[in-house]
Amino acid sequence: MNFDLNDEQRMWQRVVRDFCEAEVKPYAAEVDETGQLRFAAIRKMRDVGLLGMDVPEAYGGSELDAVSTALAIEELGRACGSTGLSLAAHGGLGCAPITRWGTSEQRACYLPKLVSGEVLGALALTEPGGGSDLAGGVQTTARRDGDAWIIDGSKAWITNAGIAPVITVLVRTDRDAGTRGFSMILVETDADGLTIHPPEKKMGLKGSPTQMLSFDGVRVPSAAVLGEVGRGFQQTMQILDSGRITIGALSVGLAQAAFEESVKYAQTRHAFGKPIAEHQAIQWMIADAALEIEAARLLVLRAAWRKDAGRPFNREAAMAKLMASEVAERVAHNAIQIHGSYGYSREFPVERIYRDQRLMTIGEGTSEIQRMVIARRVLQEFDQGVASPV
Ligand SMILES: Cc1cc2nc3c(=O)[nH]c(=O)nc-3n(C[C@H](O)[C@H](O)[C@H](O)COP(=O)(O)OP(=O)(O)OC[C@H]3O[C@@H](n4cnc5c(N)ncnc54)[C@H](O)[C@@H]3O)c2cc1C
Repeated sequence: MNFDLNDEQRMWQRVVRDFCEAEVKPYAAEVDETGQLRFAAIRKMRDVGLLGMDVPEAYGGSELDAVSTALAIEELGRACGSTGLSLAAHGGLGCAPITRWGTSEQRACYLPKLVSGEVLGALALTEPGGGSDLAGGVQTTARRDGDAWIIDGSKAWITNAGIAPVITVLVRTDRDAGTRGFSMILVETDADGLTIHPPEKKMGLKGSPTQMLSFDGVRVPSAAVLGEVGRGFQQTMQILDSGRITIGALSVGLAQAAFEESVKYAQTRHAFGKPIAEHQAIQWMIADAALEIEAARLLVLRAAWRKDAGRPFNREAAMAKLMASEVAERVAHNAIQIHGSYGYSREFPVERIYRDQRLMTIGEGTSEIQRMVIARRVLQEFDQGVASPV
């Protein structure tokens, strides 16, 4: 397994970092304060290649490998959590299912629009009654009516819903077929009967809109099914595996940002006659952060590398997401500690990063769910006599 980035990946990382330093990071506090994404930057992302990382070039995308995508999301997260989350959801949840399962008509209809920089993509899985247990929690139904589907129900916590032209929605198409009874359906956001509620008032990631959806007899043509009828649950699991790599990368970016702010602060703040960076207790926090961020980044890149190599990565993506999100939590917590009172103030970025990173152990599968995925794999592997898989 080769963990070194190739020249192209390194160059891409540099390009994205430079772009984020100029167009994203300086506006992160404003995005948080106003609760608005900065579309002036998102429009420019089209030319950089950040808007269609999963999308084929034929539809205006940049068709990058998973490692390059993870590198870009880490950079976006390092610059601004809200922008990072909305872009991660746009690519991994909004564009990826259409790229993967869309017919040529669906791809031609939606992908060029999604990479235009005027809108972002969205995927609606979670419902008010549950997110972890999708098989039990999804109650939104689609029933056939001639050459159409009629959708009723509601979805909760949907990133980018209000700025998406189309949303991929997980629905039940057969109540008696277990996990074979789900399908993904593309619903245009101007459809009659669809209400997109005002953005949730969140603790962090305030610039990234998160909205509830109500479907009241929404009628879509039968051609709006994405992939096969009855395969929606399996498709969702595949999308979540890849999404966990990107949420892992976003977590690493947030941790990296908190870490950099802490080191800078520790070198300039004095206590007991010397910079606090010279006190051993602070050094240990810095050392632990450096170590844990590096370990999390390697797990994220390893999962991405396995995806690019066409190898199974379900366990690795869960490990990467679990580790990186919990590292972000510890690093952001200590970043506030290192800043003392100033860390508790909105004047310093660590306060925002602390709030932003808090979602990472929840979204795209909580830490508890990641542990379940990992344990299931480990137990299967032991049953098969493979205690230490390569
Ligand atoms: C900012 C934000 C953006 C989001 N974006 C999207 C989006 O774009 N699309 C989308 O579909 N969803 C989105 N979500 C929803 C998110 O994915 C869910 O909140 C998440 O999956 C958890 O589901 P839940 O909130 O229903 O928690 P629940 O499933 O109700 O879980 C509550 C608690 O119980 C624990 N738990 C549940 N089952 C078990 C078990 N078997 N064993 C042990 N513990 C368990 C959980 O780990 C958690 O701690 C978003 C959420 C937020 C806050």
